[in-house]
Formats: sequence, C-alpha cells, structure tokens
Amino acid sequence: MYFNEETLVYLNGKWIEASAASTNLYAQTLHYGSGVFEGIRSYQTEDGVMIFKAREHFDRLLYSAGKMHISLPYSAEELEAVCYELLDKNGLQNAYIRPLVFLGPNMSLQPTQEVNFFVCAWEWEKYLGDQLLHVMTSSYQRPNPKSCHVDAKVVGHYTNSILATTEAKQKGYDEALLLDANGYVAEGPGANFFFEKNGILYTPPLGNILPGITRSTVIELADELGFEVQEKYFTIDEVKGSDGAFFTGTAAEVAGIASLDGVSFRAKWEDTMGSELARMYTYRVTSREYNSFELV
Ligand code: PMP
Repeated sequence: MYFNEETLVYLNGKWIEASAASTNLYAQTLHYGSGVFEGIRSYQTEDGVMIFKAREHFDRLLYSAGKMHISLPYSAEELEAVCYELLDKNGLQNAYIRPLVFLGPNMSLQPTQEVNFFVCAWEWEKYLGDQLLHVMTSSYQRPNPKSCHVDAKVVGHYTNSILATTEAKQKGYDEALLLDANGYVAEGPGANFFFEKNGILYTPPLGNILPGITRSTVIELADELGFEVQEKYFTIDEVKGSDGAFFTGTAAEVAGIASLDGVSFRAKWEDTMGSELARMYTYRVTSREYNSFELV
C-alpha cells in the first residue's frame, strides 16, 4: 500500500528503492521510541505541485529533534528540497509525505550519535474518511506535559494514540477524543479538536496538545471569515450536545464529527462553521480562490 517496486525513498543522502531500505535492529528508536517525524501533504495546485506549509512542518521537525536531544544535520530548506525531489522522482501530486528521524544502535537511555533521516511519500485518502465521525471520550489521557514534550512529534508518543484509537474502534466508534492530565478536552489521537456553540468556535490552548499546523491554518481561515475562535480549557460536558465539532490535522484535514459518546451535535454539518472552514481549507491548500464567505 505504501510503496511498490518502483517507489524511491530518501535515506541518509541516497535515493534507493523502498523495498531495499532497511534499518539496524538495535536502533534506539525501535526499542525505546526516541525518534521524531512529520506528516505533510502536497497538493496539485494551479501553480503546480505544492507542499502545504512546508516550512512550518520542517521547523516543527527540527524543534521536535531538539527536544529529544537529536541533532539533525539538515536545514529546513534542505529538507524541503529533498521532499520536492521525492515527489518529482515518484511522480506524485496529491501525496502524504512522511519524514522520519530515527536513531542508530544504542541500548542505553542516552542520546545517540547516529542519526538517520528517511523520507517517503504515498497517495493517501483523507485519514478519517469523508463521513461524519462518531467519537467517544477515551479512557486514555494524553501524555502529561510534565512527563514528556507533548508539543513535539515524537515516535513513542504514538503508543498513546494507538491505544486510544484501538479502544474507540473496538467499541464501535470511529475515533477517540482524549482529555489532558487535568481532565479537560485535549485532542484526538492524531488531530486537534474544535467545537462550536452559539456562533463561537472553541479549541484547547497550547500546552497539552500538539500545536497543529492545520489548527493554526483553521484559526487563520476563521479570522478571514470573521468567525470568533476562543482558545480555552473546556470539559466534555460543555462539548456534548453543542452545535458542531470537528478534528483538524494534515492527514485528516477538516473532519466533521456527528456525535460524541452517542450524543449528536445539534446543527446539520452543512450549516456549521466547521463545514464552511472545511470547504475553505480545501481551497486554501490548492491555492484556489474562495468566494463564499457567508454562511447560508
Ligand atoms: N495532534 C496530534 C496528536 C497529531 O498527531 C496531529 C497530526 N500531526 C495533530 C494534532 C495535527 O497536527 P497537524 O495539523 O500539524 O498535522
């Protein structure tokens, strides 16, 4: 699914076939989860294939690496150039790009000298699909920001995400919504969260969440549309039965939510600010004009 016989990937300065790419089984990342990564999308636009907010993603990758004491021997500019070359070599337009920084052999719990950089890409549908989602409050919390750097995109943090999504799917839901260590709503396993009540959008502030690039894009778009957005802490009870809600993420884009813990959101999705923002997001990433600034 992620590659075929022709797929080329970039590993430590070389272009190789995906099927030939390999790693050392003593890698610290494999044993202890210390590695960092990104999830980026490219889109076919009127100006050709463009990577959406490339610089923000590579800055976050470098930030994440720094937090994990990993020195990545590339600048954001170099990483961006490699990704454009990757798309070109594989003939990809609307693609999901996955840079991964993983460490060499080290069985101790200390920084590792050997740092590897891998990047691959594939065509990927909207991660959470096109249907409105039935979401449950997870029994798992997001990691406590005092236990790790939750604002960094670290490989090991995703065990929490896997547990939460698996629990939700096993219980018949589409996705989970996780609380923070203080019991307030934080985010989804791989996406940020917004809800809408009486014409105002609410989203948790930074601190317990990954600072999503889609989240900040949606805040920019809301501002352009004249929608009020408040960043504040709120409980699950404030969300339940409100007008609407959605997840935001590079892979998921803007994904509407039908219900939380079996309680439906009140407004028809098509009539929500979230739906308007979802449409506008599609226009923004493909650099097309967007004329409908009014909610009907
Ligand atoms: N939160 C988590 C935990 C995520 O994994 C992601 C996906 N990177 C997001 C939020 C959304 O971030 P972005 O919009 O930058 O993709």
